[in-house]
Amino acid sequence: MNVSSILKVKGKSVATAGPEDTLEAIAKRLAERRIGAIVIVEEGGQVAGIISERDIIRALSQNGSGALVLPVGEVMTKDVMTCNETSTIDQMMAVMTQGRFRHVPVVQDGALVGIVSIGDVVKHHIAEVEMEVTAMRDYLATG
Ligand code: AMP
Repeated sequence: MNVSSILKVKGKSVATAGPEDTLEAIAKRLAERRIGAIVIVEEGGQVAGIISERDIIRALSQNGSGALVLPVGEVMTKDVMTCNETSTIDQMMAVMTQGRFRHVPVVQDGALVGIVSIGDVVKHHIAEVEMEVTAMRDYLATG
């Protein structure tokens, strides 16, 4: 299984915002959409960064409530690890474990085409393992 099979199930919609949007606006969108991260894009659509709930907590602890008026471009992670639709579930698990983050935007031919969260990866990994167990049981039963 790969990222393309995850996107087939969850769809290609990605929550995005611009670097000038305030942390307050970002926090509201995270809460409204019940998600943990938003991809920050330039006007041309290229990925400029990613902001997660953890970044907002860090900014609040450093700046107090004044953090809410900061532009997200000042707080986001700019060095974003992305994947493409052919990346495998195993590769995604390794990237997320090594990088200690739970979201990876999917970029195909320079365009943002989706986002994969650790929840998506674990769900598909379990499905993959269950399929292997079923195939093994069938093989043993008929062998
Ligand atoms: P998360 O686990 O996604 O809440 O993110 C934890 C930290 O990693 C935050 O500082 C994020 O900005 C950062 N982060 C999240 N996703 C990525 C990514 N794909 N590449 C680089 N940094 C990321």
